[in-house]
Amino acid sequence: MVAARPPRFALFDKRGWNTMISETLGRGSPKLPPLRKDRAEALDQTWLETFLGNFIAHDPANRLEPPYAGEPIYQAPLIGFVRGDAPLLETYKELIGPFHHTPAEVMAWAAKEQGVKAPAANEIGVVSFVLPLSDATVTDTAAEKIHSSARWAQTRLFGEICMRKMMQQLIAELSGMGILAAAGDFMPDFRKRHFPKIGWGSPWSHRHVAFAAGLGGFGMHDAFITEKGCAHRCGSVVAAMPVKSNRERLPHYRHNCRQHRLGNCMVCAKRCPIGAITEHGHDKEACSKYVMKSIPRNIFGNKVAIYSCGLCMVGTPCAQKNPMEDAK
Ligand code: SF4
Ligand code: SF4
Repeated sequence: MVAARPPRFALFDKRGWNTMISETLGRGSPKLPPLRKDRAEALDQTWLETFLGNFIAHDPANRLEPPYAGEPIYQAPLIGFVRGDAPLLETYKELIGPFHHTPAEVMAWAAKEQGVKAPAANEIGVVSFVLPLSDATVTDTAAEKIHSSARWAQTRLFGEICMRKMMQQLIAELSGMGILAAAGDFMPDFRKRHFPKIGWGSPWSHRHVAFAAGLGGFGMHDAFITEKGCAHRCGSVVAAMPVKSNRERLPHYRHNCRQHRLGNCMVCAKRCPIGAITEHGHDKEACSKYVMKSIPRNIFGNKVAIYSCGLCMVGTPCAQKNPMEDAK
């Protein structure tokens, strides 16, 4: 299926502005679809895996636009599950900040919106998914030294739209079966804020949920390194549906990073054009400023209204694989 032609002037493309406003200010999050209160289906978690796999394989949202029309944005998803009452998710209130929501808080909000009783924490499950970027997108930006490629910029915008559509459809499907469901970043208080302890943060971190679900760990660049590397986007949906963990969580949050394990990497730091990554970690403030400066270049050069960078995520040993896979 060939995707629609984008507007002639990216400056006026509302999709980009809506995405940036939604990600940074939290406005424009979708309303929850109606919950069928007359139904209460018991669902096997393999149904969730099938739904997500089929969406990425077949939905037209997983496609770039001209000049890359028809190319898939994402490869097949990696999927993990974590119980809503997993103690680690509660500790995020200390590690990230008290503003970070637990799955029970996401469900409490959704239950209030839908006019039903909130489920107990042990009746809640979280499905976490990682969508690896296409080889072409990774290769393109690995060849760049100052700015991300045009393919990467498109991927940043249309990949986010695809991800949100997938989460919305999953929530709608579950709600139609009488299963309360929501996404942490669809809540009205979701927006990026600057916090004294952690710098930029938000009330729901898909990557931290992915860590809890055993999908991988963090690198020196703060990107999330899975068995398919760190060049991906990730998401998660919370549901009133008990799940069983299907992956073993890493023993340390940097267990997949070669620098942490062997002390001989820092390729991501060398890839960063502004030196925002050092052995002390990732300077989110400097990174964010640089990423924001990409907006005019993307609008007028790459014909897409979005911010992007990601240079540190590609051209590295952890871009498309776990660099420690042979050392486990
Ligand atoms: S490039 Fe090396 S140091 Fe940087 S995150 Fe990847 S494995 Fe770790
Ligand atoms: S995303 Fe941030 S840390 Fe990574 S290369 Fe770009 S500016 Fe540097």
